[in-house]
Amino acid sequence: MTIPTKADVVIVGGGVVGTAIARELSKYDVDVVLVEKEPDVAMGTSKANSGILHAGFDAKPGSLKAKTNVRGNKLYREIYQDLGIDIKFIGSLVVATSDEEMATLNELQVRGRENGVPGLEILDKETVLKREPNLTTNVMGALWAPTGGVMCPFGATIAFADNAVVNGVKICTECPVEEIVVEEGKVSGVKTAKGFIAAKYVINAAGLFADNISRSAGDNSFDIKPRKGEYVLFDKTVANLVNTVIFPTPSKVSKGILVSPTVHGNLFIGPNAQDIDDKGDMDTSPDGLQEIIAGARKTVPNLPLHASITQFAGLRAATGDGDFVIKASDSVSGMIQAAGIQSPGLTAAPAIAEIVIGILQEQGLILTKKANFNSQNRHKVKFHELAHNERAKVIAQNPLYGRIVCRCETVTEGEIVDAIHAPCGALTVDGVKRRTRAGMGRCQGGFCGPRVTAILARELNIPVTEVRKDTTKSYLFFDKITDEVQSNDE
Ligand SMILES: Cc1cc2nc3c(=O)[nH]c(=O)nc-3n(C[C@H](O)[C@H](O)[C@H](O)COP(=O)(O)OP(=O)(O)OC[C@H]3O[C@@H](n4cnc5c(N)ncnc54)[C@H](O)[C@@H]3O)c2cc1C
Repeated sequence: MTIPTKADVVIVGGGVVGTAIARELSKYDVDVVLVEKEPDVAMGTSKANSGILHAGFDAKPGSLKAKTNVRGNKLYREIYQDLGIDIKFIGSLVVATSDEEMATLNELQVRGRENGVPGLEILDKETVLKREPNLTTNVMGALWAPTGGVMCPFGATIAFADNAVVNGVKICTECPVEEIVVEEGKVSGVKTAKGFIAAKYVINAAGLFADNISRSAGDNSFDIKPRKGEYVLFDKTVANLVNTVIFPTPSKVSKGILVSPTVHGNLFIGPNAQDIDDKGDMDTSPDGLQEIIAGARKTVPNLPLHASITQFAGLRAATGDGDFVIKASDSVSGMIQAAGIQSPGLTAAPAIAEIVIGILQEQGLILTKKANFNSQNRHKVKFHELAHNERAKVIAQNPLYGRIVCRCETVTEGEIVDAIHAPCGALTVDGVKRRTRAGMGRCQGGFCGPRVTAILARELNIPVTEVRKDTTKSYLFFDKITDEVQSNDE
């Protein structure tokens, strides 16, 4: 694919921050290009996180984290239905098991009120155990935050990207940025592996690599160190262990190890927090997993470990002072940093986007609202959520909705085809997984993986040997032993 040679604004990075900014900018009459080094959006930190819609009581009052967390939580409530982002507003509890921790709950409540978090309440032991009977009986009380919730860890990124494309943003994948080109102290464009894009404004939303991107322009003002967090995911059969997001009382470096339902009805525990050096190290380790199991048992002692279905890790983009870096570069005119976006960046993303738009205007970009901005994504068929008669209706419209490809999650061929042909469509097996849940279930793609591969090859009109799992060279098959593909119906 050829890339545009010029734009008004180039966004580097297709995580939740870059795509939220792209969607916000698509409300205005400007040419926006988002460049992403991987074959899909949501391939960095935005694909592996806790998926918590944080209420906002954690961050230091006045910090960017605090402001954007509370504002982002509110904005998601306004946009999630239009964009089709899966969110459940189930609330969260911070659990205390000692007098010292009870004192911390009081501090968190005061801090939360200062941050503008509504409805915070400290519950006594009896009330907490009535709501959450599987918590440790050592619980002394808990901080209840009704505005907390769970959301799809990667769904918001994909939804923002789809909506941005519908409204005219160009997303160029497999297009790593090599350098921000600066002339006489001003951004003149972006050099990518696929060519040069001339632009006066560049937004650096490159996640873990935002310090490298900034340095390429001559701005060395921050460093990013990866901080790993590991998880265990459990089968849907044990999701009812807890009803809300359960946090322990937090420490200085992390919110602690959570036990929580996921928005799609699984259960997870994690993450821990380990400072590492390698920005590509997403491995889990036996020690790390033991640490999160021990941590989770402090709040929920009877973990159903037999029902775990997978483990994974994500990397936080940690900076020196711990707050987000959202500002115009001090040394390069036209470069805007949206960097060091660690937790609660998923929650904060729509609010970060608003701030970046304001900075662009301050920097001289004229933004005129489009008359024809479309705030809604196309409604997606989610076959497993439909009643019998609704299923019959969609199958009558398109027989591909009558072919179940992923049996664990009841995902149909019709949904997979829709995902491939979406505005920011899936090009890889994991791209299909993140958009449809095919491969997310108990067998983790053991059964449906080959079918999804065949559908991708057919719809993208490429040989099976060119279908990839996730990254640029992650080919799954190297040759074919037959041209015959067994049909699902046999
Ligand atoms: C363990 C963990 C748990 C978390 N839990 C929560 C939570 O529960 N709730 C919450 O609100 N937040 C949470 N977060 C934080 C949240 O996930 C992040 O803040 C958010 O995903 C960061 O998004 P981003 O767009 O800044 O970065 P990323 O998602 O990493 O996106 C950056 C993108 O830039 C691309 N890129 C990098 N270099 C280049 C280049 N040279 N050229 C082109 N593209 C490039 C990358 O491929 C990537 O796609 C958690 C984070 C972690 C790690």
